[in-house]
Amino acid sequence: MRLNLILGDQLNWDSLIWQDIDQKNDIFWMAEISQASLQPPSNKQRSVVFLSAMRHFAEDIQKKHFQLLYSPITDDLSSFTDALKKTFTEHKIDRVRCVLPGDYLVMQEIEHAVKHHQLEIDWLKDVHFIAKRGEFSHWLKQRKKPTMEYWYRHLRESRQILIDNGKPQGGQWNFDKSNRQSFSKQGPDVIKESPNYGIDEITQDVIDTIKKDFSQLPGTIDTFNWPVTRRQALIQLRHFIDHYLPFFGDYQDAMWTEQPFLYHARLSASLNLKLLQPQEVIQAAEQAYKNDKAPLNAVEGFIRQILGWREYIRGLYWAYRKDWLQFNALNAERDLPDFYWTADTDMQCLHQAVKQVLDHGYGHHIQRLMVTGLFALLWQVDPKHIHHWYLGMYVDAVSWVEVPNTIGMSQYADGGIVGSKPYIASGAYINRMSNYCQHCPFDPKQASGDKACPFTTLYWFFIDQHNELISHNPRLAMQAKNWAKKSNSEQQAIRERAEWLFQHLDTMNKEA
Ligand SMILES: Cc1cc2nc3c(=O)[nH]c(=O)nc-3n(C[C@H](O)[C@H](O)[C@H](O)COP(=O)(O)OP(=O)(O)OC[C@H]3O[C@@H](n4cnc5c(N)ncnc54)[C@H](O)[C@@H]3O)c2cc1C
Ligand code: SF4
Repeated sequence: MRLNLILGDQLNWDSLIWQDIDQKNDIFWMAEISQASLQPPSNKQRSVVFLSAMRHFAEDIQKKHFQLLYSPITDDLSSFTDALKKTFTEHKIDRVRCVLPGDYLVMQEIEHAVKHHQLEIDWLKDVHFIAKRGEFSHWLKQRKKPTMEYWYRHLRESRQILIDNGKPQGGQWNFDKSNRQSFSKQGPDVIKESPNYGIDEITQDVIDTIKKDFSQLPGTIDTFNWPVTRRQALIQLRHFIDHYLPFFGDYQDAMWTEQPFLYHARLSASLNLKLLQPQEVIQAAEQAYKNDKAPLNAVEGFIRQILGWREYIRGLYWAYRKDWLQFNALNAERDLPDFYWTADTDMQCLHQAVKQVLDHGYGHHIQRLMVTGLFALLWQVDPKHIHHWYLGMYVDAVSWVEVPNTIGMSQYADGGIVGSKPYIASGAYINRMSNYCQHCPFDPKQASGDKACPFTTLYWFFIDQHNELISHNPRLAMQAKNWAKKSNSEQQAIRERAEWLFQHLDTMNKEA
């Protein structure tokens, strides 16, 4: 018998695992591994998305009369090693096949487990992505430094996406400058609700197990409303194209109290589970532009996320696969503050961003980068701690995409591979892009004193601490000069407030 492994984020029928099948001798294998679906403490929402989507896919496999071995979470298999050992002991397997996993450590673990049983594994190409195998590493070799923008242009040109007569549509590659609007004082207009996907028997069963056996996991579950089948993911895609895409560009970076989703697609979990293919998402957006249903700045901005960022991040994950978890360029060593698990903080931006993660397993890019990520960077959190938090808390979190975004882009622990500078900002940025500060006891303009916004204090403190790095970075040198212009007493007051915050943050949340 040949064993065909289908991992939890490989739920696509166009996968190469479905080619060259012999119904009699090919047996398919899926396992709910607790390490992958429940750890490092995985938000209940994330666990349910993964397990329910896997069970729905397994149901389809059985409907097509393929032989399937499926281990539910209640089998208590904590690792791929344990799960494969059980299978190899109970079944006569001659060979193993698997599509290349999205996690290098999982790949190593499976390979090791298979070899341990004196078997061979055939790794199949992952055809979900737009870039072909080896295309990114070839591109990388020709460049001094990887820059997302040039990778994105390469893919647009070679795949003829938003290209008109050999030129970028609209005469420019990038409309990012038009995509940074915040809302007026009244906030966003009424935003059409996302479809309600309901809770069918399969999802209910997963929810019941999580409630009964894994109630200690963070997050709430009664708000669950994520697509868990391809049909639902296609409905979400249509809904996004028709109702949100026209506004996506303008308000891509904006945030608003009690508005977790705004005009964002909510497609990342479906894409990462491979219920949706990136090509079809891009084509749907491009078609909306051709049909005059969405403006170019929105369509280009959205396509850049999927074609540019998503493919670029994947390329970098594999290029530095052995290094990511060792990176700590800024020597950050502190623990994550407790409120990352509870949302119990008076800092409104963090309260909002963490609360919606607990309630929905979701934050949009700017909330992840410029609120939760920025605070962890300024707080000097050990990159491994914040990586575990991001990997566990978001419904779309899988290693190949979470690791470079967190350790690289948001924490600069890679010393400048993903981005050319640390993404630092004071409370003024959050104040400009949201209404959070209006409901906050702190003042984003103040860097010292009792009412000082912790972001603003720690932003200047970061510049002071990393002065050498900041003053030599052309994109940040001005910020080092601004720090130098402050009087000695101002600088000292900021340092003292920062030290005070490091000692008292948790109690301060209650007293402010
Ligand atoms: C610290 C940090 C951690 C992140 N962790 C993840 C993660 O675990 N999984 C994940 O899919 N994304 C991650 N991202 C990227 C991004 O924030 C999410 O893809 C996006 O917020 C998902 O929401 P959406 O589908 O509504 O996206 P939209 O804002 O509507 O964007 C459209 C799509 O573009 C893709 N995309 C956008 N930005 C990125 C990016 N930087 N990297 C890869 N794809 C991107 C996603 O597939 C997304 O669905 C992370 C970003 C940061 C800063
Ligand atoms: S004042 Fe500071 S802590 Fe409060 S919401 Fe604004 S940025 Fe966040």
